[in-house]
Amino acid sequence: MLGKMMTQQLTISSLIAHAARYHAGTEVVSVETDGGLYRSNWGEVELRTRKLASALEALGIEKGDRCATIAWNNMRHLEIYFGVAGAGMICHTINPRLFPEQLIYIINHAEDKVLFLDSTFLPVVAKLGEHLKTLRHVVLMGPRNEEAAAMVPGLKFYDELIETGKDDYVWPDIDENSSSSLCYTSGTTGNPKGVLYTHRSTVLHSIAGNQPDGLALSARESVMPVVPMFHVNAWGIPYMAPAAGSKLVLPGPNLDGDSLVKLIDQEGVTLALGVPTIWMGLLHSLEKLGSKAESLTRTVIGGSACPPSMITAFREKFGVEVMHAWGMSETSPLGTMNKLLKKHETLSEDEQNKIREGQGRPPFGVELRIVDDEGHVLPNDGETQGELQIRGHWIVDTYFKVEKTALTLDGWFDTGDVATIDPDGFMIIRDRSKDIIKSGGEWISTVELENIAIGHPGVANAAAIAARHEKWDERPVLVVLPVTGATPSEEELLAFYDGKIAKWQIPDRVIFVDALPIGGTGKVLKNKLRDEFGDVLIKAE
Ligand code: ADP
Repeated sequence: MLGKMMTQQLTISSLIAHAARYHAGTEVVSVETDGGLYRSNWGEVELRTRKLASALEALGIEKGDRCATIAWNNMRHLEIYFGVAGAGMICHTINPRLFPEQLIYIINHAEDKVLFLDSTFLPVVAKLGEHLKTLRHVVLMGPRNEEAAAMVPGLKFYDELIETGKDDYVWPDIDENSSSSLCYTSGTTGNPKGVLYTHRSTVLHSIAGNQPDGLALSARESVMPVVPMFHVNAWGIPYMAPAAGSKLVLPGPNLDGDSLVKLIDQEGVTLALGVPTIWMGLLHSLEKLGSKAESLTRTVIGGSACPPSMITAFREKFGVEVMHAWGMSETSPLGTMNKLLKKHETLSEDEQNKIREGQGRPPFGVELRIVDDEGHVLPNDGETQGELQIRGHWIVDTYFKVEKTALTLDGWFDTGDVATIDPDGFMIIRDRSKDIIKSGGEWISTVELENIAIGHPGVANAAAIAARHEKWDERPVLVVLPVTGATPSEEELLAFYDGKIAKWQIPDRVIFVDALPIGGTGKVLKNKLRDEFGDVLIKAE
């Protein structure tokens, strides 16, 4: 033999073991479901995760078995992430905002054996009882509670369960290609589909996503994932934070702006991550409470397009750098992150902002391309639009329990997004293929229409949808949620588009609403809006 390097499996337990070994005293702070603040550290968290793993084994749960969670971002949820996956079982995070029928479908489809839940969700789950065929244990994430015990027969209590675990439990050896966690995509059409992550994909995503041009977490940071742990693993933060030795702040159930501002200031949060709808509340509260968000240096925004006005508001008012990122459940989720290049430093502020508005570039480990309807690869010229495809170490190959691969014949995953890519790899999402407006054969980007509308001072949020049109097939209609107390008129908003986009792209109608339908992951449900307002132009004629 010429020589050899060590081979170690890339396991999720190795992330938390590292934190316990070298960052044991670094804080992990959590707002619990009862509103109380709980303080721990990586050393304690790791010990408790091993006890949980041992307790689950004692219950007869085996490697590969699915253990589900319906929970907020909190300490016990974090322990379950590592305890379950560390023991070789699969942590199945469930979105609590799903309809009961969807919950039943997902739990049965995943064949979950254990269900951990926060007390908030007990009433919902108690009603599903007999429909959940595979569950052997339902565990309430908290101390014993007799009232709760009366609601679900055989209910177990997390704090009692973990005490039955052994603190000398040793993490088992696990093949890095074995499954570690499972997350279903919201499935706006058809049944939700499960994405089954592996130890290897998760660890590689944690390392690659945390490069200097990525999240750049360090042992000097305090990071707060506001993006839920039930949605694509809170963008990987629960795995990256222990690897980097960062302080972790879990915000629990209260995601209103005021609660978040308080937590940021109190816990010295340096990096916070969330979707634009939640961040609108955060910006509003920062201004209202007069907080300067002193500790906050940057924020990652993704999940849907970040309005340009939000990027400038954070920078100009609070000195907070916004990093726009793109991804999806199928991509673990980090696909692109936006940081400027050296050559951009000499550009004007406006030109730099224009680049920041895009979704950014892939980190090492993933590749992007755009293709036309027939699958021909299109040029990365920053102008040609096409279907966005991706491949890499943490991209789905085959959905859970589906035989056929989800990939193209040449091994790429079709994202369902329409994008442009420039020669440096900067990608801009122009739309989702199912949302884009096709007016007389030309495409109109709903993202662009919304970004402009949200820049108007009287608009709190806006969604552009395709409405059916007799002559043009589809025309844009803008659905607007005004800022409380403001009464912008239709004419005023339409005039606001003048000079910003081509005349034929300006919406035909503006509809004012008291609330926009928001889905479980904080995105506007455009299919609902299309159902409601898709015929307004036809009826009007
Ligand atoms: P779903 O919304 O269907 O539940 P995901 O949460 O996985 O699925 O969302 C993935 C989709 O969200 C992407 O395909 C894209 O359309 C959209 N998305 C995510 N990040 C961004 C972003 N920064 N800008 C625009 N769209 C985004």
